[in-house]
Amino acid sequence: MAGHPPKPPKQPTETPKKQWSMADFEIGKPLGKGKFGRVYLAREIKSKYIVALKVIFKEQIEKYKLQHQLRREMEIQTSLRHPNVLRLYGWFHDSDRIFFILEYAHGGELYKELRKTGHFSESQAATYIASLAQALAYCHEKNVIHRDIKPENLLLDHEGRLKIADFGWSVQSKTKRHTMCGTLDYLAPEMVENKAHDYAVDNWTLGILCYEFLFGAPPFEAESQSDTFRRIMKVDLSFPSTPVVSTEATTLISQLLVKDSSKRLSLQKIMKHPWIVKYADPTSICSK
Ligand code: AMP
Repeated sequence: MAGHPPKPPKQPTETPKKQWSMADFEIGKPLGKGKFGRVYLAREIKSKYIVALKVIFKEQIEKYKLQHQLRREMEIQTSLRHPNVLRLYGWFHDSDRIFFILEYAHGGELYKELRKTGHFSESQAATYIASLAQALAYCHEKNVIHRDIKPENLLLDHEGRLKIADFGWSVQSKTKRHTMCGTLDYLAPEMVENKAHDYAVDNWTLGILCYEFLFGAPPFEAESQSDTFRRIMKVDLSFPSTPVVSTEATTLISQLLVKDSSKRLSLQKIMKHPWIVKYADPTSICSK
């Protein structure tokens, strides 16, 4: 199961969209297990194109009444085309399973890299944050708020380029949202309080991730959920003395972890921030 870089499965423009089925794929090693299914390495037989096939059992989706959410994930992710957003090429289903044909991220989870090394260097962290800012700017332009950006949802391709995956919680909206969702440590104060929220929740998460990339743990981590809630609400932010990081980095984090969502640094300003300019590797950041 080798062969890179792959070409997307061909889709004739004049004929109706191809109906994929299991008969079109050879299945390889398991890549991982998620909440609702498993992901396998796979190869489209005709084109030899390597993909990741995500298998989800319909029974599970029905049990948790997630049909609408799943459809939203599929629609959003198929419509997005950005080098830092994992492609969803298509999907198909049989009597009891749904299959997602996904871009294969050879480098696996960013989270695993972070745990392996403890923390990233400033240039690695800045490159990831700049890639995320570019991808989020693109998503926001399309009225998509991800809302569940966390290291587990960030994958790396064969060149170490960051890919945002898992649009399970994302929402396409022009108005402020009111539903409580996401993972505690990465939640913005307005989400913790279950208040209306908008695009600025993703900017807050960039601040959390930047901190975690540099120091190895999210800033408001605590023994209990209620302590984390309290720390988020107070924006109880402090920087460890080790590893030593530049003041530009701590300044950027402090400009993103701002309680008033309208005062958080915009994605455009992140891209021009002295820390990004100084440390991010421009050759691995893709604009559109
Ligand atoms: P998920 O169900 O999306 O949470 O995926 C479960 C795990 O499978 C992830 O944590 C990754 O380790 C792996 N995985 C998911 N999608 C891909 C992909 N496109 N390429 C490589 N590995 C993946």
